[in-house]
Amino acid sequence: MRQHGKLEYGGRAVPQRTCVGCRAREAKSELLRLVRVEGQVVPDLRGRLPGRGASLHPALSCLELAERRRAFPRAFRVPGPLDSSPVRAHLEGDQEMSCRTPS
Ligand SMILES: [Zn+2]
Repeated sequence: MRQHGKLEYGGRAVPQRTCVGCRAREAKSELLRLVRVEGQVVPDLRGRLPGRGASLHPALSCLELAERRRAFPRAFRVPGPLDSSPVRAHLEGDQEMSCRTPS
C-alpha cells in the first residue's frame, strides 16, 4: 500500500475560496456558498443559484465577522447594506438540529 491521498492531491489543486468572514482560504467544499437575492444574502445550499456568490465558513462567528466588516455588500458589489438574516437562521437552525456535540 503505497498510495497516499496527499500525494494524489498534490498535482491537482483543490478549488479554494476565501471566507468573507475570517478571510481564510479554504477548500470550496468546506464553505457555504452564499448568493444575493434582492436585498438579502441567502445560503445556496445546492450550489445552483445563479449569479455572483460569496463563500463563508458555516459558522456564526464567521457570519458575524462578515457582518461587522460589511463584507457582503463588497462581495456582491452592491452599494447598500444587505440583510444576512437568512444565513443566520440557516446556521442557527443547523446547530440546533445537529446536537451531536454535547456542550
Ligand atoms: Zn471563516
